[in-house]
Amino acid sequence: MIDLRSDTVTKPTLEMRKAAYDAEVGDDVYREDKTVLKLEETAAELLGKESALFVTSGTQGNQIAVLTHCRPGDEIILESESHIFYYESGAVAALAGVQTRTIQGKRGMMEPYDVEAAIRGEDQHFPETGLICLENTHNRAGGAVIPSANMKAIYEIASKYSVPVHLDGARLFNAAASKQSSIQSFTKYTDTVQVCLSKGLGAPIGSILAGPKPFIERARKWRKRLGGGLRQVGIIAAPGLVALTQMTDRLIEDHIHAKLLAENLHEMNGIQVVNQVETNIVVIDVKGLGLTAEEYISLLKEKGILAVTFGPSLVRFVTHFDVTEEDLLHTVKLMRTIN
Ligand SMILES: *Cc1c(COP(=O)(O)O)cnc(C)c1O
Repeated sequence: MIDLRSDTVTKPTLEMRKAAYDAEVGDDVYREDKTVLKLEETAAELLGKESALFVTSGTQGNQIAVLTHCRPGDEIILESESHIFYYESGAVAALAGVQTRTIQGKRGMMEPYDVEAAIRGEDQHFPETGLICLENTHNRAGGAVIPSANMKAIYEIASKYSVPVHLDGARLFNAAASKQSSIQSFTKYTDTVQVCLSKGLGAPIGSILAGPKPFIERARKWRKRLGGGLRQVGIIAAPGLVALTQMTDRLIEDHIHAKLLAENLHEMNGIQVVNQVETNIVVIDVKGLGLTAEEYISLLKEKGILAVTFGPSLVRFVTHFDVTEEDLLHTVKLMRTIN
């Protein structure tokens, strides 16, 4: 099987498995797990934040951020196809008790003007704007990179109104790799950030939530409330450390592979590549073949290729370090036989 469903399907590398085996551990609820402490310290420094917290998943990191920033009844501003709104099972309503104010972006990018207009003024009828969430790269926009200039403009508006900004940076390292810029050229325009270790970076489990020290201390309490206070978790933090320190430089390969796939699909009958491929995601429309996304995906599966639906006629492919150029060329060859 060539698995292009997501960059979450990568298996831990040999080095990660060895790091897990050798990890120095302790009870992390007592903050005695040296490997977790090292991961959190390394992540905070890399992301340019005071402090960091190891969490079980990207969703948990985002939800803890919303819970820590907001009070029930607050309103959060976020892009209308953002992961926090679209793919987190309604958690912001179920857990934090906040309501969402969505803004339709262009390629995942919200206009600063629209964000400013959505911030609530003083009026007893209004909820309070508790948080602005950004996403970079933007998953449903096909892995689009949100330019740091856009983040800067929104961050300045947020500061003017004293509203905090949280960045869902599940694939932020892909944004940095694509722009050949530092991770901090993005994180400097957000108060808090979540990055996934378990996507393109290849760790088996885990995300990092980073931000100011007092924020992270309160976030730690929310993590505990959610059942995320773990014990000898250095076993999984150790692969995370390998992910963070050794796997970021190779992401560009995934981008080259995604572009290769897209170029080959552009000229294929009945298929339209709908996103501008900047990182590791390719989205195609199969309407021209007279098939639904579900039908197309089951035909692909019969040929040994896995992808996911992204809309009624949209199919998403994600490249990652477990797929080679050869796999992709083979994929293209098999896709040509579906018409
Ligand atoms: C995958 C993803 C998440 C959630 O990460 P999980 O570890 O799967 O919970 C959050 N935001 C974005 C943009 C993602 O792509």
